[in-house]
Amino acid sequence: MKVSVNREACRDTALCTGLAPEVFELNEQGRLVVLVETPSPDQLDDVLQAVHSCPLQALSVTDD
Ligand code: SF4
Repeated sequence: MKVSVNREACRDTALCTGLAPEVFELNEQGRLVVLVETPSPDQLDDVLQAVHSCPLQALSVTDD
């Protein structure tokens, strides 16, 4: 599974970084970065919760 962010849609609210801090982080410019594009199985639940919680629907997951 691969996770990606639609930069056009993301408004850097940081909601996802709170739900899955191992995978999402705001950089020094306050922009969201995906730290781990292919999350491990134990990160999956947090990532999916973040994907579904993004208020801008900016996150998506796809099969590798
Ligand atoms: S929750 Fe959505 S809008 Fe907020 S930083 Fe994450 S991807 Fe961007």
